[in-house]
Amino acid sequence: MALTGLDIYKLLPKTNCGDCGVPTCLAFAMKVASKQAAVDECPHVSEDARNELGAASAPPQKLVTIGSGDGKLQIGNETVMFRHDEKFHHKPGIAVMVEDTEDIDVKAEKIAALHFERIGEEIFVDTVAVNCSSGEGASLKEAAQALHDKLGLPLILIAEEATALCEAAGELAELRPLIWQRGGPGDALIELAAEKKLPLVVEGTLEECDSAAQKAKDAGVEDMVLCPGEVGPAEGLEFLTCARRAAINKTHRPLGYPVMVCAWAGDPAQQSLEACHYVAKYAGIVLLSVDSPEYILPVLTMRQSIYIDPQVPVQVEPKLYDVNEPDDKSPLLVTTNFSLTYYSVLSEVESSRVPTRILAVDTEGTSVLTAWAADKFGAEQVSEALEKTGAFEALEEPYRRPVIPGLVAVISGELEEESGSSVLVGPKEASGLPNYLKNEWKKLILFQDSA
Ligand code: SF4
Repeated sequence: MALTGLDIYKLLPKTNCGDCGVPTCLAFAMKVASKQAAVDECPHVSEDARNELGAASAPPQKLVTIGSGDGKLQIGNETVMFRHDEKFHHKPGIAVMVEDTEDIDVKAEKIAALHFERIGEEIFVDTVAVNCSSGEGASLKEAAQALHDKLGLPLILIAEEATALCEAAGELAELRPLIWQRGGPGDALIELAAEKKLPLVVEGTLEECDSAAQKAKDAGVEDMVLCPGEVGPAEGLEFLTCARRAAINKTHRPLGYPVMVCAWAGDPAQQSLEACHYVAKYAGIVLLSVDSPEYILPVLTMRQSIYIDPQVPVQVEPKLYDVNEPDDKSPLLVTTNFSLTYYSVLSEVESSRVPTRILAVDTEGTSVLTAWAADKFGAEQVSEALEKTGAFEALEEPYRRPVIPGLVAVISGELEEESGSSVLVGPKEASGLPNYLKNEWKKLILFQDSA
């Protein structure tokens, strides 16, 4: 549990000297409790108090880094059970399994293709798990090294035998792979993880993980990932929920690590569903064996949706966007700067191939009807955006006619008065735009011009 201001105050010198920039120790304690100041800003706090405060304020779940350099994966450091209480901080790694006996070139090509763009963000598979099905350390090392060279992604090395795993992990230690000995880590692997500072998988039931993580920690291993092994979705979910709860409540400190789960059994659709289910409920890494885009994209979409900060609306920059190289006789569509709305409009305009401009009005990331109801997408705001972006200057008459969404047709009259221009009312849904742009827009412009 987080320390209260009074808990912190008890550990301060209580001299009210003001050297921390705050008049009293109590006021300083309140700032520390609300994370607006760090304990170190008091130059007089004792070493014992500093240690006590440091331990108590440590994150309930450790931040674990897998891989090195730009492509590293960071998981854990979560502080809440529910996204609406704050936000989830680190997206789970989505890992595709590769057997070290497979054709690595073919597999690397398939994994590289699992890369998509959605609402302006690149989403992709960001981890590769290599399984030592050959039983040979040299083969595991060679396959993992080749995959890393081709993809640059963090690695998870998996083997039944500690000898093969230790051999490969020892040689690839600079890449900081996550190492997993199936069934749980033996002493040799724990020793290697401590010596090379590698993240280690601790496998078993919650009770087994609790004692194995404590054992590994006592041996000097700093970074760990818990894993229930190959279990069904219900058991996996139970493990994830109990481990997160134990970590957040700080009831079992050895369970204060992120969790890796396997969704690699079953047919591809089942794997995809299971993986989505784990992403939604606390997974730190999800392993799949499927590598087809149609099964991976739903998992990446789920991850993107869950790990968006719920307190920050997803929005694009409010401005005028050119699509398909418009000229001075092109349509001018008006919409809001809510990402989902903007990208829905954009994708329909792109597919229509009609050169068009899209004016994204600043509605603080809210959708058309929400923004209109909140008085952020009325005639005044649209008119201001038209003027500020010089949208009309790029068009000649009679094409200077903004097309507003059909959902806010009600503002058309007022907008005509505000902007001094005729206004067209477009379709209610973005899906109606291709037909509107190709077949209706020009007729309406010419009709209005001749009227
Ligand atoms: S510097 Fe330390 S002792 Fe002085 S007022 Fe601030 S918290 Fe209190």
